[in-house]
Order: sequence, then C-alpha cells, then structure tokens
Amino acid sequence: MTTNISRRIVILGGGESGVGAAILSHTKGYDTFLSDSGTISPKYKSRLDESGIEWEEGKHSVERILCADEVIKSPGIPNDAPIIEKLRSKNIPVISEIEFAGRFTNAKMVCITGSNGKTTTTMLTYHILKEAGIDVGLAGNVGRSLALQVAIEPHDVYVIELSSFQLDNMYDFKANIAVLLNITPDHLDRYDHKMENYVAAKFRILQNQTGEDSFIFWENDPIIAAQLKRLKIEAKMYPFSEEYDPDAAAYIDPQGEMVLKKGGDNLVIDKNDLALKGLHNVFNSMAAGLSASILDIKKDVIRHALEDFEAVEHRLEYVKTVDGVRYVNDSKATNVNSCWYALESMTTPVVLILGGKDKGNDYSEIEKFVKDKVKAIVCLGVDNRKLHSFFDGKIPVVEDASSMAEAVEKCRNLASEGDTVLLSPCCASFDLFKSYEDRGCQFKECVNALNDSK
Ligand code: ADP
Repeated sequence: MTTNISRRIVILGGGESGVGAAILSHTKGYDTFLSDSGTISPKYKSRLDESGIEWEEGKHSVERILCADEVIKSPGIPNDAPIIEKLRSKNIPVISEIEFAGRFTNAKMVCITGSNGKTTTTMLTYHILKEAGIDVGLAGNVGRSLALQVAIEPHDVYVIELSSFQLDNMYDFKANIAVLLNITPDHLDRYDHKMENYVAAKFRILQNQTGEDSFIFWENDPIIAAQLKRLKIEAKMYPFSEEYDPDAAAYIDPQGEMVLKKGGDNLVIDKNDLALKGLHNVFNSMAAGLSASILDIKKDVIRHALEDFEAVEHRLEYVKTVDGVRYVNDSKATNVNSCWYALESMTTPVVLILGGKDKGNDYSEIEKFVKDKVKAIVCLGVDNRKLHSFFDGKIPVVEDASSMAEAVEKCRNLASEGDTVLLSPCCASFDLFKSYEDRGCQFKECVNALNDSK
C-alpha cells in the first residue's frame, strides 16, 4: 500500500516513535534527518548512528527542517509549537509515525483509543492474539514503534494504542478494527479548551473505515452516543454495554455474566473469573474479546486469555498484603475518572492516597464513592489545598504527606485488617516524582519494605 511520498523526510522528536520512523524512512531510501530540541537518549543516538541517519539535538535547524517534503512529528510535540506553526505556514505536511508506518504494510490494524483504559485493553488484546498463535506486534504508546517493526520485523497483525495526539496527525491511515472505550475530558489544554475538538480527535479513529471494517465502542458513554447521532458510520458496529442489552455485541446478562456474541454461539464468562477486576475492566475485557472474536479467534482461547492475563503495572496492580491490609498501586490514575473506576472496584474500606499536579479536577465525580468507601485520605502533593477544601469534613481523616515513604507510613497507621490502601491519585505526578511510573515504583518499594507486625 505504498503511496507516492516525498523524498526529504524530517522527523521531529528522537524518542521511540521518532527513531523508529527515521529507520523506516531511511530503509525506504528517503533522505532522512531527525531533529530534537531536547536531548536524545544514548540508546537512540547509537541506533541512529548505526543506521547512518543524520540527527541533531538541543535545537531545531529551522532552515533545514523547512526544506522537508514531509515531516513526521512525535505525539509529544504540541501542534502550536513554533516549529510546527512555521511548517504549517509553508504548507509542509506534518504526519504521525503511525500514519507513515501504515503506508508500508498491509497488516491488519487493531487500534484502541479512549480517555481511559487504552493501555490495559491494548495489552489484553495483544495477549489474546498471542495466545491464539497470531503473528502480532504491539505498538503505539505501548510496545515498540510501529514504524520500526514495519521496517525490521513485520507482523501480520498490530495492536496499537492511539492517543488523541497521535490521531491528530493521521489522515489516510485506516484501522481495520477501531476501539473507542470512552471519552471524558482530558488534555483539554491541547485542544483549545474545547471538548468538541478533543471528541473530534478521538473519532478520527474511524476515518477511512469502510463496510469491511469494524467499530467497537461503549454504547452507554453519553459523549460517544451524542457524537454517533451526528455521524454516518460506514464500519460494522459492535457496541458493548454494562447493562443487559441483547442487541449489543457484548453485555452483562441478568446473572452477572459477561456475554460476547460470536456468530450464533455466545461466549459467556462469569465476571468473577475475569483476570482483571472492576467494572472498568469488564469494559476492557469486552472490547478486547470482541476484537479477538472479529479476528476469528476461537471462543475457548478468548476465554482462557481473559482469565489468565496478568495485571498491567501501575493499573490497579496488587502489591502485597501486610497485617491483613491489601496495598494496590493505581499510580496511572492521573485523572478523576480513572480513580472513579478504581474506587468502584473496591470491596473493602479504603485508605486512599490522592494528589499531585491537579489538571483542573472536579472531585465531586468521586464524592459519593469516597463517602461510602474511603475512611481516610492521605494527600501526597506539593500543594494539597484543593484536596483539603473539597474533602475536609466529608470524611473522618484527611492528612498530608510530602514523600511516598511518609504517605505509606501514614496509610499503614490509618488502615486496619481487611482494609485496602489504594494509590489512585487523580493527578499527574510531576510535582514530586519523575513520572507516574516513578510514583508507582516508589509506592511498591515502600510497601515491599513493610513486614507483618506479628
Ligand atoms: P490509558 O492508557 O488510557 O491511560 P490505562 O489502561 O493505563 O489507560 O488505565 C489508566 C487508569 O484508568 C487505570 O489505573 C484505571 O484506574 C482506569 N481505567 C482503566 N480502564 C478504564 C475504563 N475502561 N474506563 C475508565 N477508567 C479506566
């Protein structure tokens, strides 16, 4: 599926996707140059050098970049960055790595987007396909660069996690199976603070689909439902629902079992047998199961894979039980909606670690769960005032901590046998930690250092 593309390719951003795109571009014989205004990690520098690709770091050589016929932009670079505006004013096309890679493969593309649950669903789908013996690659925000895989180790099928930032710069790419999990406000700062722009970006996952393709989506999401009323969808539709809806492609039946329709032969799994717990993970399991079913994977393989999948790190990840208290790491919950689902899945009293860099959070979304399930909150952030002004007086204890060690220590004192200590912070981590991974790892280290007191 090669189109007539231009000869001079510039790649902006020297991370996993940029370096992968550079290698693919170079392999295809294009004049390739990579530019990163920050620093490029030594691992990627040596890969570029080994491939004989020219690169620069710490600057953008504007003149050279503006000579490009086409530019591949890392999803981390905002569309209003000065260099992107200059390219736009010269009408130089700016595309994403996924768009570029899609030109050089006929593999089947299973693409997953949504505000929450992308990584989990992507990994779960990949796991099912692997267990089914499919030659499958994992790409997008997780796994390795799609472009790199297309260049050096092509697969028959790719499961790709797509953020709205990647979708922004995709035009001709087509998902054979598109999954849209949910849409809640996130990253609005990159969308002119307009929800409709963010919604439109997410719906780009459907572009170029035909009647041969499939669209899997959560039918009870009000934002998705409203947008669907405005659009004509070409693809075959596979809605899933947490309610009993025999018209949906997947639903929960009155016995609480998850039903996936598969021809005339339904796959029925008790929710409690799914490896991933909580309502949000039933959604993720339905979406992954439907993708696999569309790819003709056998019912028993899907069932087995949904039952034996191991949790993804930092997503409701069980760490350890100390003195009868379960410690759960959900550091990836960087917005209020994901914390809502974490709390929804809790079946014991909770001591909750919240806080970090607030992205304009509205805590009223989780107020009901906090009142019903949370006995104490430990606020872990540089500035905890917003948390105090919302939660003080609503639950018995709201305390502060300024490091993970202090937070875990406080939680230990506040929790009793049978409780759960849950790190599900609702906030980004950058005030006290390098990343959500760093925050989750510090939590796990502190918890793993605890021992039963008896
Ligand atoms: P993403 O890749 O979209 O950020 P993840 O799979 O990493 O999503 O999950 C991030 C957090 O979002 C998890 O810790 C969990 O609490 C929550 N979550 C997971 N799946 C869903 C879902 N389908 N709906 C809402 N929240 C979810």
